[in-house]
Amino acid sequence: MTDASQMRLREPDASEMRLREPDASEMRPTWCDIDLDALDRNLAAIRRHVAGAEVVPVVKANAYGHGIARIGLALQAAGVSCVSVAYVEEALALRSAGLTIDIHVLGGAVERQIPLFLAHDLILTAPSIDKLRQIDDAAVAAGTTARAHLKIDTGMERIGVHHYNAEGLFAESLRCRSVRVEGVFSHFANADSGDLSDARRQLDYFSEALSFYERHSLPTPVRHMAASAAIARLPEAHLDRVRPGIVLYGVAPKPEIAAALPTEPVLSWHSEVVYFKVVPRGASVGYGSTWTADRQTRVITLPVGYADGYARSLGTGPQQGPAQGPANVLIDGAPHPVVGHVCMDQTMVNIGDGSAYNGDRVTLVGRQGDERVTITDLADWCGRSPYEVLTGISLRVPRVYRRAEALGCGSAR
Ligand SMILES: *Cc1c(COP(=O)(O)O)cnc(C)c1O
Repeated sequence: MTDASQMRLREPDASEMRLREPDASEMRPTWCDIDLDALDRNLAAIRRHVAGAEVVPVVKANAYGHGIARIGLALQAAGVSCVSVAYVEEALALRSAGLTIDIHVLGGAVERQIPLFLAHDLILTAPSIDKLRQIDDAAVAAGTTARAHLKIDTGMERIGVHHYNAEGLFAESLRCRSVRVEGVFSHFANADSGDLSDARRQLDYFSEALSFYERHSLPTPVRHMAASAAIARLPEAHLDRVRPGIVLYGVAPKPEIAAALPTEPVLSWHSEVVYFKVVPRGASVGYGSTWTADRQTRVITLPVGYADGYARSLGTGPQQGPAQGPANVLIDGAPHPVVGHVCMDQTMVNIGDGSAYNGDRVTLVGRQGDERVTITDLADWCGRSPYEVLTGISLRVPRVYRRAEALGCGSAR
């Protein structure tokens, strides 16, 4: 058993918590810009889209790579009254950063961590009768009241009581001495598919389960089910609350979904040219010599690699399927392809007959002039989902937070 005070000492990695921007003159020449104005606009767009439902942003996984502390504080400042995370450690990072609003931990708590939830006024998820009893016992022992949301499984087969057994969990919650059930929630398995009949069936199961409260003349707790895809495409699933993750950061779970609820990218990813060389015809680039120049060409090196989350398969190599890589990067408004495998810390780019100088800005994700590279492009090029690409940008990459007002001009760049 670990007690709450011991756990509190184990704080998240310092770089995850960074509140102070690195001095621009000293900063690593690979970084992510985080546009907090875009975050605000996306939040406003989601609020308009869901009309009366409350928006509870999801900031798990370091706010999808955007930095949990700064994103949490920005959302609190924008008037959000609750955010959700996956794990209690993420909730503690938010409390340490100064968040005083509600925090709902979506994952199930292990018993030894329940005191942490109680000590920091965090909202627990009760996905089973056993867990609910553990929460109740811990709250009684601590002389406090636990706040919980009950989790109903309507087809995901992940955590949660099956909808056809939900009555047992609801009835048990009425017997708890020290648990206040503030919400009941479920999660869609297929809200991003072309055919929404499966999602509609899940929603029906959820409604059926919730009829327990009406049948017993009890007030229904706050109901929530929709993540980004269902927020965009299934208005009847908005219920009392919605839980937007990826769409809040301006990335669509699938391209079709962007049209239903347009938001703008919050993150852009940049680097700088640190080396220029002329590669002769017949010379090969990088580990495994997977790319050979068929004529003399110019190749630049960037100080970014797969340890930063710029996937190895974004380069050229035999692992690629027809729809994949190599990635393009933007230099001076023009796209240029990565050549060779991406290394752990460095990436080579073929600029052909183009010119580039050490210190030139290179955009890995974002806009230069009329050209744009999106997280979805990167995901397609390396055969991953946009979720993996975003959450895979490692802590080694500094995040720089921008607001137009702070710069005293119309542009955040
Ligand atoms: C991650 C998660 C979300 C957010 O999902 P997005 O698709 O990013 O919007 C919502 N609810 C639960 C339970 C989650 O695990």
